[in-house]
Amino acid sequence: MKKNKIYEGKAKILYKGPEPGTLIQHFKDDATANNNEKMDVFEGKGVINNRISEHLFTLLSSIDIPHHFIKRLNMREQLINEVEIIPLEVVIRNIAAGSLTKRLGIPTGEKLNRTIVEFYYKDDALQDPLVSEEHIITFGWASQNELDEITSLALRVNDFLAGYFSAIKIQLVDFKIEFGRLYKNDEVYVVLADEISPDSCRLWDSQTKQKMDKDVYRENSGYLLDGYNEVAKRMGLLTQNGASKNKKPTLVKG
Ligand code: UDP
Repeated sequence: MKKNKIYEGKAKILYKGPEPGTLIQHFKDDATANNNEKMDVFEGKGVINNRISEHLFTLLSSIDIPHHFIKRLNMREQLINEVEIIPLEVVIRNIAAGSLTKRLGIPTGEKLNRTIVEFYYKDDALQDPLVSEEHIITFGWASQNELDEITSLALRVNDFLAGYFSAIKIQLVDFKIEFGRLYKNDEVYVVLADEISPDSCRLWDSQTKQKMDKDVYRENSGYLLDGYNEVAKRMGLLTQNGASKNKKPTLVKG
C-alpha cells in the first residue's frame, strides 16, 4: 500500500497513520548541518535514532511526561499521535556549548550554575532565530499558559534525562525538544513531540568528554555513527561491542 506522505523534513518523514489522529514518523539516514550547507547520508542512522528516541520517550512516560509516541512499528518507523506543532525549538542547556559559547563568549564546557531554557522560532528562511517569551506571546506562537507548561515540562525532561545519561557515564550538555498541541475530547494538551536522539542532543563521555552526537558531523571530527552506536550500546539497545562503520551493529530485539 502506498503511504500518504504529509511532510518531509531534514531527518524525518511523516505519513498518514492507520487511524484518524495518528501519523507514522519515519527516520531517514540523512544528516544536515549549518542550515543545509552540509548534507550526507549515514546508513543506519535512522534505525539507531528511531530506537534511541523510542526508548527515551518510553522512559519519560514513567515520570508522566505527556508525549506523542505510541509505539515503534519497525526499524525506521514509529506510530505517533498527530499534534499541531508549536513553532518553537526549545533548547535546554546544562553545560556551555555551541551557539551559546559563540554568542556570549562563554568557554565551551563551562558548567552552568543554573539550567538555561531558550526558545528559537522555527523558520528555516530566518534560520531559526532566538526569541524571547515576549516575542512568542506577542506574535501568538504560543500562549503564556502553554509557555509555562512547556518550560516546566522541559525542565522535568532535563532532570530525568541528565540523571539517566549520567548513570551511563554520559553528560547531557544540551538538547533541543519540540512540543505540539494534542486535541482530544474537546480538550487541548501540550505534549512532547518530534524526537530525542544524538541528532538533537549534545552528549559527551563523562570522563573523556568525547562527543557522541551530531557535532562530530558538524565539525568533521570522526565517523558520526561510532558515537551514536556507543550511546545505543550504553543504553542497552545494542548486542554487539564496539560497533563501527565496518561491523554492522545488531539492535536488541524488543
Ligand atoms: N539543535 C537541534 N536542531 C537545531 C538547532 C539545535 O537539534 O536546529 C540542538 C543541538 O544539537 C544542540 C542544542 O540544540 O544539542 C543547542 O544547539 P545550539 O543552539 O548550540 O546550536 P548549534 O551550535 O547546534 O548551531
